[in-house]
Amino acid sequence: MNQADSLKLAAGLEQLGWQSVKKDESANLFVINTCSVRQHAEDRAYSQLGRLRKQKLSGEELHIAVMGCMVGPKTAQLAKRFPYVDAWARPQEFEPILTLAETIKDPSEGDLGSLSVLLDGGLTRTYALPTGISAFVPVVHGCNKFCTYCIVPLRRGRERSRPVADVLDEINWLADRGIREVTLLGQTVEAYGHDLSERPTLATLFRAIEKIEGIVRVRFLTSYPKDMTNEIIDSVADCRKVCEHFNIPVQSGSNSMLERMRRGYMVEEFVERVERIRLKMPDAAIATDIIVGCPGETDDEFRETLSLLRQIRFDTIHVAAYSPRPGTFADRNMIDDVPSKIKKQRLHLVEKIHQESSLNINQKLLNREIEILVESVTETQATGRTKHGTIVHFNTNGEVKIGNLENIVITQTTAWSLKGHIADNLSLSVV
Ligand code: SF4
Repeated sequence: MNQADSLKLAAGLEQLGWQSVKKDESANLFVINTCSVRQHAEDRAYSQLGRLRKQKLSGEELHIAVMGCMVGPKTAQLAKRFPYVDAWARPQEFEPILTLAETIKDPSEGDLGSLSVLLDGGLTRTYALPTGISAFVPVVHGCNKFCTYCIVPLRRGRERSRPVADVLDEINWLADRGIREVTLLGQTVEAYGHDLSERPTLATLFRAIEKIEGIVRVRFLTSYPKDMTNEIIDSVADCRKVCEHFNIPVQSGSNSMLERMRRGYMVEEFVERVERIRLKMPDAAIATDIIVGCPGETDDEFRETLSLLRQIRFDTIHVAAYSPRPGTFADRNMIDDVPSKIKKQRLHLVEKIHQESSLNINQKLLNREIEILVESVTETQATGRTKHGTIVHFNTNGEVKIGNLENIVITQTTAWSLKGHIADNLSLSVV
């Protein structure tokens, strides 16, 4: 979501005549887009700010803006701590930065009228300029779930869906500019549409995007088990372009822990959703997120998580150690009582299971033919992704182009990527 926000801001700034530069040294406006989901992410933003402070104090003509989830109710305190920051902007509130950009720019260089056009609803029609073949398209902003450990609803607000026409307009625009793959984004993407008068669903979007020429793949994330209806699962199975790649955070395999997290479902309900997906799409890839060391997590509760991971055999497991987020329910009412040494041990155990199951899943692809979307090409090598999101490297014959769909026979596997060669026309089974 942050990447999508950054691209949108960049598109707005470009409309005002700004250009992005690759090297920090030649920039005179820095925008740091921040994440608050874990302490580590915030620490990285602080260290960037420290670095820029030195540059600014050394007399360089530079301006600094901070946007994203770190900017919230305590902005005044942040402004006191970092007085050299010129603008603060909450997630998706681009106006303070665009206004700053317009102020900095020499009026003789550009059209001052364009800012008012942009801010007067124009920005909502401004799409991020694509640089590759894939693009992120946020479809629902915010979250209504309020898991006890999570800062997102406090920083990104409640769920707000974009109208269907607006989403399709953007995807058509992207397709006209060579985009081949779109990823529909939401904190809980299946919540899409419940707040719109006609009650469209994610399945409504899938079916409509299926008809857009040029788009060959559709991805979606992140899923929330309770919002994942049969209609949505079935539509993934039915729509040719939609990737059978589900990102469904379970967070814990223990019902008592899930209850303390206020996740709103039981392990059994999660397993039932996975079974439904596998019934409809036996080859579907399923990724999940796990948080270890949440307040009060006992050894037994953690063992239940390990047991669930072994039972489901996820393709990918994103694991993180709990860190309290100021302002959340968990921060205010629970004690962060799992020692960091234990958190690290649990994290490594989950990573180990991830590596084993991922290797095992990839090994089954040996000698099979898989369709990939080509993302990069050199003179001798090309790289792309399967519908399941796995990276595939293969030798090129000079004819492969970025954006092509190619059938590749897999000849080598690791836990994290695959290698192969272009299939000849006699190969039959395509995954
Ligand atoms: Fe945070 Fe996801 Fe829970 Fe929403 S559903 S509160 S984004 S963890």
